[in-house]
Amino acid sequence: MANSEAAVGTASRLFDTYARMPVSLIRGDGAWLYDDQGRRYLDALSGIAVCSLGHAHPRLARVIGEQAAILLHTANIVHIPQQSDLATELCDLSGLDRAFIANSGAEAIECALKLARRHAHARGVDNPAILVASDSFHGRTLAALSASGNASIQAGFGPLVEGFVRVPFGELAAAEKALAENSSIVAILVEPIQGEGGVRPAPAGYLAGLRSACDRHQALLMLDEIQTGMGRTGRWFAFQHEPSLLPDVMTVAKALGNGMPIGACLARESVAALLTPGSHGTTFGGNPLACRVGLEVIAIMREQDIPARAARIGNYLMERLKAALDGCPGVVEIRGRGLMIGVELAEAVGELKDQAMAEGLIINVTRGNTIRLLPPLIIDEAQADEIAATVSRLIRQRFDR
Ligand SMILES: *Cc1c(COP(=O)(O)O)cnc(C)c1O
Repeated sequence: MANSEAAVGTASRLFDTYARMPVSLIRGDGAWLYDDQGRRYLDALSGIAVCSLGHAHPRLARVIGEQAAILLHTANIVHIPQQSDLATELCDLSGLDRAFIANSGAEAIECALKLARRHAHARGVDNPAILVASDSFHGRTLAALSASGNASIQAGFGPLVEGFVRVPFGELAAAEKALAENSSIVAILVEPIQGEGGVRPAPAGYLAGLRSACDRHQALLMLDEIQTGMGRTGRWFAFQHEPSLLPDVMTVAKALGNGMPIGACLARESVAALLTPGSHGTTFGGNPLACRVGLEVIAIMREQDIPARAARIGNYLMERLKAALDGCPGVVEIRGRGLMIGVELAEAVGELKDQAMAEGLIINVTRGNTIRLLPPLIIDEAQADEIAATVSRLIRQRFDR
């Protein structure tokens, strides 16, 4: 019986859920990563928008060690001071009123979806629906993948969770029409910039338009800032680029722990109040270690004004890319905000990430044809130059004929 299947034994005992590149990264230092052969790579992905402060940050290493020696876990049967402090910080940064601390992005989304269902039932809507966008990504739990606008992550997992209505991303009129025609829609869930969907920023005015549509129809505006949040786009949260906009619910995760698993769902007071003792919970979520790291991440980001740095270096990298790719056939669009940048190409270019890896640069390709750059927010100009030079050289090699 043992090792009877060909794939098992030689390769891996892991579920085969990832098309992994044949590289083992075993050590990091700032924006640099090192493999088990001692080769060095410039990280332009941050473990998918997670390690915004870079790798092996000494202050994070110190608090992890300190907290591990004091207390790792108590469960939410008692007060956890680090969790309360983290909620206060997140509310202060976002303008929202309360936070539920979870372990991941998908868990933060689950909390948001449960808030929307409670909001519906409190309003007397028995068969509620949540408006979601085409090409959206909200995670891999059954509810989160049901909310996502991506057929490949849903394939073979039916029946999906009910209660989602989908409209084209970025088209305000379509969302307004859906809300006007379907009184069972109680919330909108949307990313301010779609990440997995190809680094697509919402058009100017879209979020503000959704905000007023939600107000007209007593619907909740729920923003998924799991990828865009924590300074990535040049503000603490991407919705803060829109003057005086405030969502009812927001999800955060990825960069909040810089690699320590953590997520959070934030809400306005009246919305958070829909979840009462016993109605939602988590064993690990909000433990002292993860929250201590989240607090230190925020402290470092505040001290070094990391969002402003992301805006500045992001503009710089965007300019370098545009200059280096000027007139290059095959480049459809270079777009994004802060250090969340996509280069859309005219055809599928999955192998470019392998070529970049071979040249010592870690990038990602999403939707088949869009190079996605999510470098640590601490990169300097020289590192931005290197990213732009390698990416544009690989693109030109392929498309300049
Ligand atoms: C990564 C991501 C998620 C899922 O987060 P996990 O921590 O992987 O569960 C949800 N929404 C967006 C926008 C993301 O980028």
